[in-house]
Parts: sequence; structure tokens; C-alpha cells
Amino acid sequence: MKLLNFRTEQGIRAGLLREDGVEDLAASGHWHGPAPFALEDLRWLAERVREPASGRVPLECLHLAPAVVAPEKLICVGLNYRRHAMESGMDIPVVPAIFGKFANSLSAHRANVELPSVDYKYDYEAELAVVIGREARDVPQSDALAYVAGYCCSNDLSARGAQLATSQWMAGKILDGFLPLGPCLVTADDIPDPQALTIRCFVNGECKQNSSTADMIFSVAAIIAFLSRLITLKPGDVIATGTPAGVQMGKKNPDWLKAGDEVSVEIDGLGRLTSHLVAPAPR
Ligand code: ZN
Repeated sequence: MKLLNFRTEQGIRAGLLREDGVEDLAASGHWHGPAPFALEDLRWLAERVREPASGRVPLECLHLAPAVVAPEKLICVGLNYRRHAMESGMDIPVVPAIFGKFANSLSAHRANVELPSVDYKYDYEAELAVVIGREARDVPQSDALAYVAGYCCSNDLSARGAQLATSQWMAGKILDGFLPLGPCLVTADDIPDPQALTIRCFVNGECKQNSSTADMIFSVAAIIAFLSRLITLKPGDVIATGTPAGVQMGKKNPDWLKAGDEVSVEIDGLGRLTSHLVAPAPR
């Protein structure tokens, strides 16, 4: 299933992306409120939507919300692709390097993302995002994918000036809207091997990153196992699994992102997630 969230005057509702448009799951009586991510709810919903209901809304007509709303945790893995670690001039990590973002960073497909004047070294990071579907604590790597609800495209937008001003990267990562997530959540049964997906990033239509999740240093399963030894992962938690080579940081003459740019992340089977970068609105 491909599930998305969209905004209405009555709040955020769930839609099922079908080949001929979006089924409004509240209108068809199948689900009320934002799209589920707990595995038991997903299984229940999958049974109910087997027979297509009538009525479709074109995706273009919907005001989308992020693929997951109000997660307890947004965890990012840094330097998780071999060639990206090399281009950043960093050693290949022997344990995952992790940092967090907050819910203010979430933004939806086609949303405007403001680039504040605090920084000018804005950069993209196409990433495979994993959404947890079941409470995970101390899970072995061999069993870890059984805890995944699904996957989406994400973009770990980064303000490199703030990121590299101190030893902690967080200041350059937590800006409003700096974790676009979507366009939809694709449930794990549709993605049999998360380590065999082409991942790309486009800026104004030009391909800037073109890699495969096969280049990850720590696999999705290894990351879940690692994190679950530190913390309890909860349904709806989002893990951004790192970005491949091709970011502007580390280039000799970086071409930083600027207001007016359109950035898209595309991953096999997960669709295309687009963000519009804009100057801050006057306040
Ligand atoms: Zn990242």
C-alpha cells in the first residue's frame, strides 16, 4: 500500500494512492485521521481496501502533509554511504553516527521550505527514510526488518555553515521544514529488499546524486538493531538512513542551494519527493 496524508478543514486525513488517483480513506469509511503506521493497523487496513471503493481525487489536487505526522523520534544516520564518507573527508565509521531532528523539521511533498539568512551554505541529502511499525527494543539484526512499517523518500536538508561551526552537527540540521518526508509511506511488503534501491537527487531537474542503497555502510536492519540497543523504537518513529555521494559539501566550488530552487528526491518504488526552496517570509 501507498499511504499519504492530506490536509482538510477537518484536519489531516489518510489517502490510499492507487493507479488512478487517491482514495480518500475517510470518505470510503476505511480509516479516519492521519495514515496509520502501526503494523497491526496496516494489516487491518490492507484487508479492508482490497476491494477498491469508488471516488478518486487526483494527487495534484490535494494539499499534502508529511507522510508521517507527529512521530516521537526523528533519527538521522550520518556518513552512512562509503563514497559520501570519502567525499566528506571523514573516516569510514565503525559505529553508526547518529543525530536527531524535531517535528518542526517535517515538511510535505511540494511544500515551500524557507532558507533563513542565518546561513548561506544550504545543501541537499537524499535519504531513504524508514518508519517503524512495532515497538523495538534489543532486536537482533536478523529480525529487524520485521519491525518496519514502510519506507519513504526524505531529504536531510542541511545548513553547512551552522552544521560545521561546532563539533555537533545539530544546529545545521534542525531548521523548520528541513526534513521533507513523502510523498507517501510505502508499506514494507512492497519493498522486499531496502538495500537494492536506486536513490537520486535532482536540483532544478539536474541529477546531483545517483547511487544505490547497496552502498550503505550500515544496512537498514543493522541500524534498527543498533538503535534498539540504545532506545525503544516506537511505531511512527522515522529513521533517515544517510545520504550517498554527490552533496555540495566537499566539492571544490560548491553550488549551494538558494531560494527559487526545486529539489527532488527519487527512490525506486517510493516515488518522487519535491521541495520548493524560498526566501524567508517577512515577519
Ligand atoms: Zn543526512
